[in-house]
Amino acid sequence: MTDPSEGAEYHVTIDPDTLELEVELVLFGAFVTDGMVLTVPSWVPGDYDFEPYGRDVFAVENADPEDGVQVVRDGWNGYKVFGASDKVHLRYRASAYEPDLGDAMGLVDSNYAVLMGTRYLFCPDYVGPCSVQYGQLPPKWTIHHPSGATPEGDQRWAYPSFEILLDTPVLFGDLTIKEKTIRGVPFYFAFVDQGVGFNERVDAFVDQLSVAVEAIHDVFGLFPFTDYTFVLSLNPQADWGLEHLTSNMSGLGPDVFVDDDKFANGIRVCAHELFHAWNVRRLRPAPLGQLRKHLTSGSFTDGLWMAEGFTRYYEYLISTRANAYTPDQFFSAVLGYFTHLSQQPAYSRVAVADSSLATYLNHAKYPGRVNNSIDYYDKGMLIAFAVDGFLRRSDPQKSLDDAFRGFYETYFIGEGGDDQVPADYVGYTTDQVVAYFNAYHPGLGDHIGAWVNDPAGLDTPQDMTALGLTPVWQDTHHLGIFFLDDGAPTIYGVADNMPAAVGLAPGDVIDAVNGYAYSPAALAWAASNASPVTLTVTRGHRVIDFTMTPQRARKIVGLEWTGSEDQAKLISKWLGADFTPASGETFPVDFYENFHGIEAMV
Ligand SMILES: [Zn+2]
Repeated sequence: MTDPSEGAEYHVTIDPDTLELEVELVLFGAFVTDGMVLTVPSWVPGDYDFEPYGRDVFAVENADPEDGVQVVRDGWNGYKVFGASDKVHLRYRASAYEPDLGDAMGLVDSNYAVLMGTRYLFCPDYVGPCSVQYGQLPPKWTIHHPSGATPEGDQRWAYPSFEILLDTPVLFGDLTIKEKTIRGVPFYFAFVDQGVGFNERVDAFVDQLSVAVEAIHDVFGLFPFTDYTFVLSLNPQADWGLEHLTSNMSGLGPDVFVDDDKFANGIRVCAHELFHAWNVRRLRPAPLGQLRKHLTSGSFTDGLWMAEGFTRYYEYLISTRANAYTPDQFFSAVLGYFTHLSQQPAYSRVAVADSSLATYLNHAKYPGRVNNSIDYYDKGMLIAFAVDGFLRRSDPQKSLDDAFRGFYETYFIGEGGDDQVPADYVGYTTDQVVAYFNAYHPGLGDHIGAWVNDPAGLDTPQDMTALGLTPVWQDTHHLGIFFLDDGAPTIYGVADNMPAAVGLAPGDVIDAVNGYAYSPAALAWAASNASPVTLTVTRGHRVIDFTMTPQRARKIVGLEWTGSEDQAKLISKWLGADFTPASGETFPVDFYENFHGIEAMV
């Protein structure tokens, strides 16, 4: 129950001319004391990065000067309030335009705004019920408010906690919102901007995404919210992808309606973020269940391999079930994750539990990463694929869908008795995952435990073979130089146990291959053959030559169908898609997408 003797009340006005917020804040209750700390969060749930969010806050002042309260800066994102007792009334402004961080902070654009709590000062000793009244809006602007808060009239909403306020992006503007009722629950597809092809293809996009929504509902058998909002932008600067309790913010890119690959990508990012409504916004690895206590300290869990990795696996599986991808694209993508992960030296050194615990250090790319950290999304996804394939091959009644639904019911609903996050919920442990899967299928939990707690261990090509998809291998050579996305010829990483470890560094720009001007084809050819290669690189103001001899390697160039009719049926049922390959048919394996960037190795 709400205790009326304490609370936090915000009054927030949007200025679409200055792209700023005016915030007034009244805090009252016993927690308001001399020396009270006020801060913005250091991170936001779902985005494991400590950020200087406090830099946007300025002109913080006492709104009732006669009471003598003083506010002084304290720590890296906050302030201290001196002379206050039981109640304080402050006011400040905040810059609110940074599209790239928009999914974590919200933003004020000249044409729309998305607000959540990231720019609101709060007291870490009081994270209980709070309210926000939104001030007068520009002409034609309306409000779209996702579920999870209580409307109190007069553009005011009451939030059960500061954490929920932080987790509820509220939309303002002259918005284009498509609405669809799916399995009895309203879904809103709220576009904050548009692009070429919008009018022609937006309905097709919403329809296909709705199929994905139904496919996720099929996994869990319920929607854990009373309505759901997709907050969508086509702005290429809005590289969004962040889940919230009853909504998500996803960037689709400007070409989503004019390029079929981008269209499928858009379905996939939305599927990923919606899947999080179950997996991580509700079902959480410990200690993420107690986020409200960790908003300034960070919350460190070993369990993101399931929270993020399983979600990544389902983003592909659900997209395939929604016909955004074909079965061979699904298998090609999974194999691509294995190839790109396992060729990094770090794969044999770093456990995915460790990389999850170090998420605040490794989520962003950095020099040396290929040697000392793995992406827990990638290994977690491959664990999910291995588990799902194993279960389906072992017993037609079993699947990861069935197991994961049971896990959700046991470790989330079972904890709280309903589909809302209970106040005392801490989250599940990896030991509980191991025990659960051992009970679901004897010995399976122990395999998962080893894949999580030890480096390497997966054999995705063997998993494919067991399904009737036999990898076609080709002999080649490698240097161990990594490029990120379209970054070539700038080196992103150098494997420290491969031929390129002769002094080449991340950031070096390759100017020449064996004395001739760099081209991607020239480098790829030289790296794949046995003869020594000399690379001329520019490092800052220096030009340096390095010579190295490629090492022998094998790579998979296709997946040949060697399976039976029963195996093809198993795959059809699994992927919810028609799969009737001819014997000996070989599928390409060049389809691979990764929202974190493609780390290609020569
Ligand atoms: Zn995610």
